[in-house]
Order: sequence, then structure tokens, then C-alpha cells
Amino acid sequence: METGTASYTSDEDRLLRDDVMSAQIIDGKAFAAKVRGQVAEHVTALKADHGITPGLAVVLVGEDPASEVYVAAKHKQTVEVGMASFEHKLPADVSAADLFALIDQLNADKNVHGILCQFPVPDHLNERAVVARIDPAKDVDGLSVVNAGLLASGETGLVSCTPLGCLMLLRDQLGDMTGKEAVIIGRSNLFGKPMGQLLLQDNCTVTIAHSRTADLPAVCKRADILVAAVGRAEMVKADWVKPGATIIDVGITRIPHPDKPGKSKLLGDVDFAPCSKVAGTITPVPGGVGPMTIACLLANTVTACCRANGLAEPEGLTA
Ligand code: NAP
Repeated sequence: METGTASYTSDEDRLLRDDVMSAQIIDGKAFAAKVRGQVAEHVTALKADHGITPGLAVVLVGEDPASEVYVAAKHKQTVEVGMASFEHKLPADVSAADLFALIDQLNADKNVHGILCQFPVPDHLNERAVVARIDPAKDVDGLSVVNAGLLASGETGLVSCTPLGCLMLLRDQLGDMTGKEAVIIGRSNLFGKPMGQLLLQDNCTVTIAHSRTADLPAVCKRADILVAAVGRAEMVKADWVKPGATIIDVGITRIPHPDKPGKSKLLGDVDFAPCSKVAGTITPVPGGVGPMTIACLLANTVTACCRANGLAEPEGLTA
């Protein structure tokens, strides 16, 4: 990446110096609770009107402590919205054949509408092959080549959960995004590329930046919507931000807590305090994008369940 620094206008300089402007903070935790509430309503209706309980199967290979925490959180929230949760824990040395046999069994199970395998998996297993084994109609993480292709061609599929969550936050905040300049930093299959497709579908003019982008600060400064998904703590500086822009901070970096020995702290990709003096709206880390991911996983499971049963999809929970 070339480093460069966009210069402040005198007005922006004054805003930063005088602490005049303060962005509205998006409460992702509250929004995610609202999404889970909508999901729960749909689940109740599916049970009452059709005798169907949406089911989510989560496969965990090995004993990675962080993955165990994520899987436990997914299980808890799945049960809380009234869905069936099927947990499958496999030993770290499970063979690809045994893992695929389990996925085949879940693909065929009519009570399972969503399947995800918690990543990372041990090195002897190939993540792309694992995702490819999951029936695309049950790929509620939206990671398969089929679902990525459907999104890219504007057809109906299942959309990766974190970009879907960011889209929901942006639509809620901005309404119609037609004509807005959107810059996404990061081009991963998991986040940056699907986020770009979603914003394109909502009629933004989209730039996807990455580690080789020339003069990243100047590119970011054009953005009405700036989405950072890199994983480099506080890399986005206040002088990269267009005054009034909406910033979505996806990045997560865990550092030792400066005041609490033995504890850790999460930082986003955005230098929060200075940037929030320039931006119009910003997501914090933690409590911004993070909580949306599981909420969207549950939303995708309800969507997959409705599609599998030929029923109308829930409104507001899809792209
Ligand atoms: P990734 O696959 O590592 O992709 C990172 C992207 O950042 C790459 O496209 C890379 O560019 C780009 N990049 C790296 N250094 C850069 C630099 N100096 N300037 C500009 N771009 C740079 O990561 P990911 O899976 O997309 O995740 C990104 C971040 O989001 C991570 O911190 C992750 O933990 C977080 N995340 C959070 C959630 C959540 O909140 N639930 C979900 C998903 C991801 P190249 O392609 O050129 O290498």
C-alpha cells in the first residue's frame, strides 16, 4: 500500500480541534436484538401456521477455545428465537470422509434448514471443500461458490452473514443509498466482495480497496459510506474520512487490555474517537457490526426454511 495523507480543509481542521462535531453511534447490539425479535416472530408463525420448526446445525471440529465460545453463542441465540439447534462436535483428527458423511446426513435431514461448519478447521481438512459439500440451499453462512455466484449475478441465494448485517445497518441508517460513493477496504470472499455486491445492488458506486490500493487515504476520503474490513487496529484515520460520512467498522483486533492485567480488549480498524468527530455516523467496536453476524445467521436460517417449504420469505431479513 502507498501511504499518503489526505489534507484537512480549514473547516475540518476546526471541527477536529474544537471537538464540535460528534457522529451518531450505531448501536449494533440493539439492532441485532431487534433482528432476533423479528426472527422469533417468524419462527412462532411457522410453528403455529405450518407446524414447522426451523433448524440450524453447527459442526465443530476440534477444541479451539474461541470456536467453542462462538458455537455456544450461536446455540444459545438459536434456542432463544425458538429454533431447533443441532450441535455436532467432532474430534480434531476426524477424517474428511467422516466429516463429509455427517454433512451429507445433515443435507438430507428435513429438520435441518441451515448448516455451518465453524472455521478454522484443522489443517488436514480443506475449508473450501467443506463449504462445497454443504447443500447451497442450507449454506446459511453464504460462503459457497454457488451462493457467491448467485449474489454476483443478482439472483436469489443466501448471503454471507456479516455483509448482510452491515447492509441492514446501512439501510436502517440511510434508507435509499442510490448514488452514494461506497468504499470498502478489504477484498476477502468472506466479507469485502459480498459487501461490494450488496452495495452495488443498492445502487451505490462501489470501490473495493485492498493492500495494493494506491493512496488509500484519498480513496477513502471520497466515501459517503466507508466500510473497513482489514484487521489492522485503528488504521483508518480522521483525515481519511469525508465529513458526514457513514463508517462501518468490521475489523476486530484483540490486544492486551492497557488497564486490566490478564484481560484483553477489542479494537476496530477505525481510529474511533478522532474519526467520530468527522463522520456523521459510525459503528463502535465492540457493539457495532459484531452482534449482527449471529442475528443474520438466524435470519438466513428462517429464510432457508421458508424457501425449502415453498413459503413466502420473511420481509426485511434478506438482501
Ligand atoms: P482477510 O481475509 O484477512 O482480508 C483482509 C483484507 O484487508 C484483504 O483484502 C487485504 O488486502 C486487506 N488489507 C490488508 N492490509 C491492508 C492495508 N494495509 N491496506 C488496505 N487493505 C489491506 O480478512 P476478513 O476475513 O475479510 O476480515 C477482515 C476483518 O474483519 C478481520 O479483523 C476480521 O476479524 C473482521 N471480521 C469481523 C466479523 C464480525 O464482526 N463478525 C466478521 C468477519 C470479519 P489483500 O487482499 O491485498 O491482501
